[in-house]
Amino acid sequence: MAKIQMKTPLVEMDGDEMTRVLWQWIKEELLLPYIDLKTEYYDLGLVNRDKTDDAVTVEAAEANKKYGVGVKCATITPNAQRVEEYKLKKMWKSPNGTIRRILDGTVFRAPILAKGITPYVPGWKKPIALARHAYGDVYAGVETRTEKGDKAYLVVENADGVKEKILIQDFSSGGGIVQSVHNLDTSIQSFARSCFNYALGAKMPLWFATKDTISKTYDHRFKDIFAEIYETEYKKKFEEAGIEYMYTLIDDAVARVIRSEGGMVWACKNYDGDVMSDMVATAYGSLGMMTSVLVSPEGNYEFEAAHGTVTRHYYKHLKGEETSTNSVATIFAWTGALAKRGELDGIPELVAFAKKLEAATVRTIEEGEMTGDLVSLFKAEGVTPKKLNSREFLQAIRRRLDA
Ligand code: NAP
Ligand code: MG
Repeated sequence: MAKIQMKTPLVEMDGDEMTRVLWQWIKEELLLPYIDLKTEYYDLGLVNRDKTDDAVTVEAAEANKKYGVGVKCATITPNAQRVEEYKLKKMWKSPNGTIRRILDGTVFRAPILAKGITPYVPGWKKPIALARHAYGDVYAGVETRTEKGDKAYLVVENADGVKEKILIQDFSSGGGIVQSVHNLDTSIQSFARSCFNYALGAKMPLWFATKDTISKTYDHRFKDIFAEIYETEYKKKFEEAGIEYMYTLIDDAVARVIRSEGGMVWACKNYDGDVMSDMVATAYGSLGMMTSVLVSPEGNYEFEAAHGTVTRHYYKHLKGEETSTNSVATIFAWTGALAKRGELDGIPELVAFAKKLEAATVRTIEEGEMTGDLVSLFKAEGVTPKKLNSREFLQAIRRRLDA
């Protein structure tokens, strides 16, 4: 069979440790035999980031902006221990943070569902994609302690001097704490556009929630910006796609999500997203089954697995021991990127191949062949789960792909 031809290259960002090993194997077993793979390769492994003074990360992000679609392997974010381990020149910043700053994007995380791996919330039948706003709020907050007798004010100055001074609290009865947070209209607008774009691409309804009844200026601004952008830029497109945009209060959203069968994009403010993304990810089962895509307001996409480099497995691998590392999220990063590339370049065979590979991957698990992390979660009548090693799992998918 002739290999599928590509037009525009995918921006390929290689990474670290066990996921770097899987990266190569996925290409060998599941991509190169079927596609004349065209990529622009950037090695974001820690060794090369250090060698290039992290310029390679910036170049990769710029390339992602130029071509529109990238796929990234998990990478080490160095800490003091990694600086020592890799003898780094510097404690380089998180590559994901650098890429996100350059693309100005929002991260959407979505689980991959397979029959037999039942979510902790039994009503959830479809994936919930969670979007977290990644700017401001308490993450860029300023806070301090106060003593008895202090007065705390919120002061806004402009070129002419004090514009507004609002008493926050008179601490005359005793000391306490005070905190201030901010956000930017431009950042909220980018977040809103990324959410509307993602929902349209995934053909899933979009839910957004804040606490605007209590926070009548701050949270209300989020609500208004989303409403304004929806009305002027997206309403018609949503109607054509047959999906809805819904705004509600965050506590109502939590209750509705739990009662729902899933299938929505849930957009959250920074803190809500921090908390809820862990809840949603845990409720669906394994980290190895969670994908992640960075969507920019201009419509650039960067696909990856939500998990890290799986260090513990890598050290076993280095000692020559067998590992059973779940490659599903990394496979779906590739299929997400290939399908998007195929869609943008008008290559239906590429889109179809991506869907077939996804189906073969899910079927492999549903038929009882899986990696160790899934074995204890798997329950299906008449199917005894079998633990495969990392490579055997890819080969089991390939057998189904070829069938
Ligand atoms: P991790 O790599 O996600 O692994 C944490 C644990 O979760 C693993 O030890 C493993 O548990 C389990 N796990 C995660 N992914 C798995 C998979 N695909 N298959 C099977 N089990 C899986 O997180 P971490 O250990 O906190 O971080 C390791 C490195 O990854 C760090 O250097 C960090 O900076 C980096 N990181 C990168 C990204 C990214 O690039 N997006 C994200 C997060 C972390 P068991 O050991 O119990 O089997
Ligand atoms: Mg969190």
